[in-house]
Amino acid sequence: MVFMVNNIIGNKDIRDRLLRLSNSGQLHHCLLFEGPIGVGKHLHALWLAKLINCLAEPHIRSQGPCGSCWSCRMIEKGDHGDIVVVGYDPEKITRVISVKQARTLIANIQVHPARARKRVVVIDPAEAMRIEAANALLKTLEEPPSSTMFVLICDFADQLLPTIRSRVQRIRFRPVPREDLASWIAQNQNTSDSGSIPILSEGAPGFALQMMEDKEEWCTLRDEFLMIIQKGDSAQIKWVASFCSGSKQVWLPSLILLLDIISTLLRDWVVLAFDSPLPLYHEDVRDRLVKFHHNPVLLSKLFVHIEQIRKDLRIHVNGSLLLESFLAKAHRLLFLPMVQRR
Ligand SMILES: [Zn+2]
Repeated sequence: MVFMVNNIIGNKDIRDRLLRLSNSGQLHHCLLFEGPIGVGKHLHALWLAKLINCLAEPHIRSQGPCGSCWSCRMIEKGDHGDIVVVGYDPEKITRVISVKQARTLIANIQVHPARARKRVVVIDPAEAMRIEAANALLKTLEEPPSSTMFVLICDFADQLLPTIRSRVQRIRFRPVPREDLASWIAQNQNTSDSGSIPILSEGAPGFALQMMEDKEEWCTLRDEFLMIIQKGDSAQIKWVASFCSGSKQVWLPSLILLLDIISTLLRDWVVLAFDSPLPLYHEDVRDRLVKFHHNPVLLSKLFVHIEQIRKDLRIHVNGSLLLESFLAKAHRLLFLPMVQRR
């Protein structure tokens, strides 16, 4: 229920703006929703699809989607045939949007939508488009059929080809204010004990929910990571082999979660390095974290390495090698200096 389009918070000014543009018939045919992970960009794209296709009386839908007509309900359920969401290619082992998907999409949108006033194509995450896929779509993004509009979704627009960026209208999403997020979590989780999550999730409702729902897995993975970076090569290789065993569909989500956790740990070490009063993501293991070497310059190298792994995972199949090289570096930069100091 928490992921429903009706249950949307933050960035009201963006919804107001989209409403104005829609009411005056001035919506751009290709929008780019950019902003932090988990801030609600995808939900806003679906909200917009509802708004454009709402079947309520004009005086009602000019205030926003009604949420109860056939069209609004089908979009909410993900069952509206004319609202097309393009994500990672399920036929590919890497996380990409392929040229094959792009070509299929181009062919499909030549046909007039079956029920919708306007077909809405949501490409999420747009940065996963392979160069060939992006190039194949360029002309369509510039001049789609009049019955179709596009919403591209990405965390950082810089990751898109300049030729794509120049064809879109950019809409920038901001983090949700802390107080709004706290009351939203309390409402949705039926608890007022959301602790420091609104602060730590940095204004991203999706991220806050993930943290609350995966708390146990978070802690287990984090503890394993803190343990394994204290070990040498052979133990690390063994650990990675077991972590990445089985099918990629199984270990890849865990690896992505691990990367998120490592990012939050690195951020905590930066907070500790600067003696900042900010709360830690991993307050419960503060005593353990201070025992690692946390030099800001070295931490920034690890941040860069993590971002590189995220990018590489879109291209390379071999997650084990990527993880092994990171763990070796983490061992060298976070653990060894403390041993040498003893
Ligand atoms: Zn409606």
